[in-house]
Amino acid sequence: MTAKPNLVVIGTGGTIAGRGNAAVNTSAYQCSVLGIDEVLASIPHADALANLRAEQLLQTGSENFGNAHLLVIGRRVSALLAQPDVDGVVIAHGTDTIEETAYFLHLTLKSAKPVVVVGSMRPPSALSSDAALNLYDALAVAADPASRGLGALVVVNDEIHTARDVAKRNSFKLEAFGSPYGPLGYVVEGVPRYYRRPARPHTLDTPWSADALDALPKVDVVHAYGALDRRVIDAIAADARGLIYAGTGNGNVSESLIGPLRDAARGGLRVVRASRTGSGVVVRNGAQPDGAFGWLTVDDQLPQKARILLMLALTQTDDPAALQAAFDRY
Ligand code: GLU
Repeated sequence: MTAKPNLVVIGTGGTIAGRGNAAVNTSAYQCSVLGIDEVLASIPHADALANLRAEQLLQTGSENFGNAHLLVIGRRVSALLAQPDVDGVVIAHGTDTIEETAYFLHLTLKSAKPVVVVGSMRPPSALSSDAALNLYDALAVAADPASRGLGALVVVNDEIHTARDVAKRNSFKLEAFGSPYGPLGYVVEGVPRYYRRPARPHTLDTPWSADALDALPKVDVVHAYGALDRRVIDAIAADARGLIYAGTGNGNVSESLIGPLRDAARGGLRVVRASRTGSGVVVRNGAQPDGAFGWLTVDDQLPQKARILLMLALTQTDDPAALQAAFDRY
């Protein structure tokens, strides 16, 4: 009989740590009120999967997460993974920005050990809550050696997603998460079944380490529309190092903003054309002469995750060609 793996379960808040006044409160409740040990204690059979240690790192909704929160989580998970008696880490997290934290970990952890970020759409107190099963599934995924070397994973709604691709796509349904190319696999009866692997480099194969990061540069995201006022761009250019411009369609820029964005790029702001459509590739030098204007393009990455990638890339280079290479590689 093989020994059970040792997992650390980190609590950060969110709905998975929430409580409603009544079981019918599936969407209106207080989030981030239950301790992670309390949440864990309510999962039947969790002890059968692994030796579990709970740790409360944060206790807040993930809509509040700034760069400092990412750095705190990254450093702590990295330190845990470096311990020989830790086989994997599960992070219980609010679902709102789970994709950003997971992608940050995916790009900055220097370990092949399983790392699973998990949340729930309904608090443990609600009718048909997904909290217990999602957490159980996350433990099962983190406990399985098949999950090694895949980077950070997000487990929700019976599915295992790569942190690179997953995003929250619905505000209240249990089936809130999706990846444009599908999940990596399913969890069935507490057993992960994988059908594909991440194609892009992550964790050990990136130049960024959570341990070495003291701060992240300011990068902002703008959701574009035809009437968007140039003052928004000017304000960002005044104090940020990067701007993810979530343009219409294929990252299109309204005529009134071409000049301001070109000037901002000439002034040193790293402008990245992305799309507000939620999926697809933004074609470089397609609708706009990106090379001539000094703009970058996002490949297929969503604006909120492009922000994470650009912040990391800017910690090592300001060279537009090197920054573009990061978007094309990761
Ligand atoms: N807004 C809260 C958060 O992201 C609750 C959402 C959830 O966890 O489902 O932490």
